[in-house]
Amino acid sequence: MISFYPGPSRIHNRIPKYVSDAAKEGILSANHRSEAFVQLSQKTIELLHAKLDVPPNYTILFTSSATECWEIIAQSVIREKSYHLYNGAFGQKWFDYTQRLRSAEALPFGTEESLEPTALTGFNDVICITQNETSNGTQVSNVLIKALRQNNPDAILAVDATSSLAGIKLSYKSADIWFASVQKCFGLPAGLGLMICAPRAIAQALQIGEKSHYNSLGFMVEMMNKWQTSFTPNVLAIYMLMRVMDDSPAIAEVHKKTLNRYKAWTKFLSERASIKMLIDHRDVRSYTVIPVTSSAEIVEQVKSEAKEIGLLLGEGYGAWKPNTFRIANFPALKKKEIKKLMKFLEKF
Ligand SMILES: *Cc1c(COP(=O)(O)O)cnc(C)c1O
Repeated sequence: MISFYPGPSRIHNRIPKYVSDAAKEGILSANHRSEAFVQLSQKTIELLHAKLDVPPNYTILFTSSATECWEIIAQSVIREKSYHLYNGAFGQKWFDYTQRLRSAEALPFGTEESLEPTALTGFNDVICITQNETSNGTQVSNVLIKALRQNNPDAILAVDATSSLAGIKLSYKSADIWFASVQKCFGLPAGLGLMICAPRAIAQALQIGEKSHYNSLGFMVEMMNKWQTSFTPNVLAIYMLMRVMDDSPAIAEVHKKTLNRYKAWTKFLSERASIKMLIDHRDVRSYTVIPVTSSAEIVEQVKSEAKEIGLLLGEGYGAWKPNTFRIANFPALKKKEIKKLMKFLEKF
């Protein structure tokens, strides 16, 4: 079964080999304070910096999931209050989780609406945005994130890029915290998250000085200065990430591939008689998650017939469920698999 689900999604073909290599190399029982782990951790972080083009002065931390990153920001980075700009289920969940711990304000916007940065000025403390909203296939562009940064110089800008990081180019310098988990664009099995922090974000956390948790940001950074973590991490996942990054082309090249495939999907879907892209406004369409809409009957037919020929499509999310299905446009998918799905969808 080829999974076009937008996470967990298709994993890279070489993952089983990496697992077996990890066993042979003794990584599976490596102690997380050992020299072997420290070397693995350092190499992985260095590869992430190099391949994803993360600024050298940004600190990359291992977490367990993107959800954990939401909580780390809430407990360690927010001074008084966070402001959540969102238009879908993941952005809302981030707001909901934060609100249980801290004071937070929701600033929802429409799925066909482009954020207007000139109207979003004067924020301080923490602004939270979802770069790629996996539930409805919209994105906030690098240009908008940069404008938000410029219009809010006193705020810490935190960006959930769970379903785009490692799939497209992101302008890391335009924000202070970026995070993702590996079961989306990285093409890995679930169980590891990454949090990328600018010096400004770490400075704010250190100034607040919150130290009550195993994953308090200051403590995590202190451990990462020794290439370590404050808990026993998913060593196998870190090893697989290291191997995948080692094999991966630079992000500029990956971005080009993602964008070309996105364009091919846009053209293909615009020519169909009974299915179309859910999002009409081109400027806000996600490059990595493509939701498709039709009548409930056709959506059902598409999903079940696709399954019969070994193609798993993503269910529509929440309220979109009956009338949409989602197609992941993640780098691990093969050209011939996309061709197969397009051929199948031609009749709709
Ligand atoms: C998948 C996803 C999450 C949650 O990721 P976990 O690894 O399950 O914590 C958060 N935000 C977005 C945008 C996602 O796509």
